[in-house]
Amino acid sequence: MHTQVGTDVEHAARLLEQGELVAIPTETVYGLAANALNAVACARIFEVKNRPGFDPLIVHLAPATDFESALSACARAVPPWASKLAGAFWPGPLTLVLPRKPLIPDIVTSGLETVALRMPAHVLAQRLLERLPFPLAAPSANPFGFVSPTTAQHVLDQLGGKIAYVLDGGPCRVGLESTIVGEQDGRPVVLRLGGLGVEDLEGVVGPLGLATSSGASPGSLESHYAPRTPLYFDDLGYRARGLSPDQVALLLFRAPLAEVPPDQQEVLSASGDLNEAARHLFGAMRRLDALAAARGLRAIFTQKFPERGLGRAINDRLRRASSRYAT
Ligand code: AMP
Ligand code: MG
Repeated sequence: MHTQVGTDVEHAARLLEQGELVAIPTETVYGLAANALNAVACARIFEVKNRPGFDPLIVHLAPATDFESALSACARAVPPWASKLAGAFWPGPLTLVLPRKPLIPDIVTSGLETVALRMPAHVLAQRLLERLPFPLAAPSANPFGFVSPTTAQHVLDQLGGKIAYVLDGGPCRVGLESTIVGEQDGRPVVLRLGGLGVEDLEGVVGPLGLATSSGASPGSLESHYAPRTPLYFDDLGYRARGLSPDQVALLLFRAPLAEVPPDQQEVLSASGDLNEAARHLFGAMRRLDALAAARGLRAIFTQKFPERGLGRAINDRLRRASSRYAT
């Protein structure tokens, strides 16, 4: 299959109506979208991504001002915390996990009794969703386990030839997947750190727990977001591992290290802005991974980011990117 890239919302809509997959831009990362009410189309998402069936999809809703009724179309119940968070942050990088209505196919929720719902803020995604008579199921548009795409080119690099169309909405403004909030023991909890800071959420609904185990959010596997090159998190000690400056790549927050060649380093935000760092994270991981392959670099070493705002989600992604190489 030849994969086209373009900005034609109408073309994307027609493909989705025919049960095809389309990669779509959102403010978080690019999604691999299908008609969320068409189980056959959604099954193809799992095939194309090589995604295990136990990892459920996020359902994307058309922009609306009445969040209660938008949620109620897919959710059986909307607890007060969910209405408050939607009111404060939708459209935006926040996913709410709520009891599902039967119209959502089993394959979308991996058989769970809950469904993950989000209203994206990207204008092209919104135009597309407004044009369609159904919501879109869309996980990140990358093969399972790899770094999420934040440009149309990233999608093409990994899924080219496997999908009909990539709707190109430019680079993603947030650059990290959505923050996911669900309910445990009658209280809202963060199921996945992401593009909306926990402090922002807590400003609206009060203190929030963080679900730790992978059981809480089925897709939150320990090893994920992984480049091919070994990556060490919170560790710049390449010499201790017997490596020299010309054998390593570095991923840093604000400033490069003098001893390593400058083009083997990615600095995510010289001004120390964690939102900017988040926006650049996945692109930087991809560039360093490709550079390492081209030059035979042995490993990527990364700093730990400040544990506030999007810094927590950046650390979460880097930790998972490193866990399979952890010693
Ligand atoms: P992705 O869009 O690829 O970032 O993946 C969506 C993620 O949303 C999954 O990996 C799960 O962690 C989470 N998710 C989706 N549906 C549910 C659900 N019903 N309950 C808990 N987490 C969910
Ligand atoms: Mg993903």
